[in-house]
Amino acid sequence: MKALECSTIDIAPTISRLLKVPMVPPSGRPIPEVENYAKEKGCKKAVIIVIDSLGYALYWHLSPVMKNLNEFSKKGLLFKCWSPATITSPAIASIFTGYLPAEHKIYSTDDIYTETSKDYENPRLKSIMEWAYRAGMKSSVVIETKGAESFRGKIRDFYGVPNSEDILDYDCRITEYALQALKGKTDIMAIHLRALDRYSHRAETWTELKKAAKAIDENLGEIFQSAEKGTIFFICGDHAIHGGKKWLKNATHEEIKSHENNYVALITGCC
Ligand SMILES: [Zn+2]
Repeated sequence: MKALECSTIDIAPTISRLLKVPMVPPSGRPIPEVENYAKEKGCKKAVIIVIDSLGYALYWHLSPVMKNLNEFSKKGLLFKCWSPATITSPAIASIFTGYLPAEHKIYSTDDIYTETSKDYENPRLKSIMEWAYRAGMKSSVVIETKGAESFRGKIRDFYGVPNSEDILDYDCRITEYALQALKGKTDIMAIHLRALDRYSHRAETWTELKKAAKAIDENLGEIFQSAEKGTIFFICGDHAIHGGKKWLKNATHEEIKSHENNYVALITGCC
């Protein structure tokens, strides 16, 4: 079966369409397959989970150890999703805003402050969480402290976790805040799990990489359990895995092509 395709810039406009969040239409487009899927399910809330470095080819390798995500994907949709950036900050800004890096011009966390201070009302710098907050919805972000601080004054519920050498613990703390936000009946939430990316840089073996994937999957399981019925999830990578040489040693031609094209996995589904 041919994989469904889209781009990470389509996520924000899709949520805007599903949850009726008013937004200046960005460069991305609502994903029709998700619209049709969500219509049947009646999704009223949305959660974005960015799994750092979850490339499309990599997802197929890791899905046997990511049991919760694998189960979830069977009930939902899996996309081969093009990301317009190969590093984290611009890639995540594209997911949150629906614009290409050349349009939002956010290449680092510092850029969020400088670009926003230049032009506070620029729609290209506004995340879907901010659009939702402006429309009177409950909006949350759970990310690294510095990134979270950039949401000060833009949305009310931003949770920051300080960067840590213990990245598995870091992800657990992100997850705890996410559960807290869900308990607080957030309408739209975005979170960023980083263990897989850290391990891709520092680990040498697939066994270690799978350990990170499994830890992330346990976090996902907790989040799925705590989400209200009628919540649609967008679980995606931000870019293909770093350290390609190391991880592509025994890769097929198709996997290498997917990596070079910077395809990530996007799994959408309603619980
Ligand atoms: Zn990243």
